[in-house]
Amino acid sequence: MPPSNSRFQHLSQAALSRSQFLRLAAGALLPFVGLPPSAAAAKNPELAQNGGAPGTKDAAASDRMGAILVSQFGPVKIHSYLSPLDGFHVNTQMIEGATAVVIFDGQLLLPYADEVASYVQTLGKPVDRIILSHAHTDHWSGLQVLTERFPDARVFALDGVADQLRARGQARLDSFHPIYGDRIATKVTIPTEIIAEGVQRIDGVTYDFRRFVDAESDLQLAALLPEQRVLMAFDLVFSPNEHAFTVVDHFDHWMIVLERLKVLQGYDTITIGHDTPVHRSAIDSTITYIKRAKEIHGASGDAKTYGESLKAAFSDRQHAEWVDLSARLLYAVSR
Ligand SMILES: [Zn+2]
Repeated sequence: MPPSNSRFQHLSQAALSRSQFLRLAAGALLPFVGLPPSAAAAKNPELAQNGGAPGTKDAAASDRMGAILVSQFGPVKIHSYLSPLDGFHVNTQMIEGATAVVIFDGQLLLPYADEVASYVQTLGKPVDRIILSHAHTDHWSGLQVLTERFPDARVFALDGVADQLRARGQARLDSFHPIYGDRIATKVTIPTEIIAEGVQRIDGVTYDFRRFVDAESDLQLAALLPEQRVLMAFDLVFSPNEHAFTVVDHFDHWMIVLERLKVLQGYDTITIGHDTPVHRSAIDSTITYIKRAKEIHGASGDAKTYGESLKAAFSDRQHAEWVDLSARLLYAVSR
């Protein structure tokens, strides 16, 4: 199905500022309807008014802290929940098929996971399963809420992710607890099912699951949706507007992985772990970022120098505080 048939439906906003919201909206529309941001904004005045598209039934939208983008591909809808900034702008993707919903990733903060759960319930379809993309806390802490709210949904991840969570999950939660208090999970949700690589159909949607190692994380799932021409890249690809997380010294291999993504054909839109969906050109901008980060890492003896240099090199990217977090973790393990 050509991308022009995908239809932007609704992006709601509460905690985001108006300028943030408009930027997100414009960035989101570019890949989903194939229009430049200015044209897309002009053709969707309801966005600027934050009034929602006519006909959407989303009574909770005005109270919601996160933002939701809905993209329709024939009978399939992709609902993307984007957390507010204190939740690292992390996404939960909800793929709505004919009879069920498949959820990817569970948020960092419990209140946002709760918003995801409440939104899914408005769709009126059972949650078939929850799939975790990788073992970083911002993607799984909120699974505590999702598994409580959807007790029949099985939790899947690549082989190895459950072991990573058993080994390090509780320590990660403990490190976040002083910052977030009761908004962070109290227990680790361990996936109970292994997701197989390759092509599978779930509720009428074709997924091509891919396994990647040593990129932004040690182990990362990606999923191609060939019929929707969408690549779900999670934290392999970052928005050109935001800093990437460089928490481990996998710079060289991450670039190799990105080159592999570049040669994949048949998709126009990439949904990413943080921020709204991007065009495939974001693979190149991520490579540029990682290449420079590697050079800076090689030349920096400590986290402070690394962080300051990386922020200076990409001063146009948002969320410089993410660089400080990355630098702390990168230098804690590698130096
Ligand atoms: Zn992430």
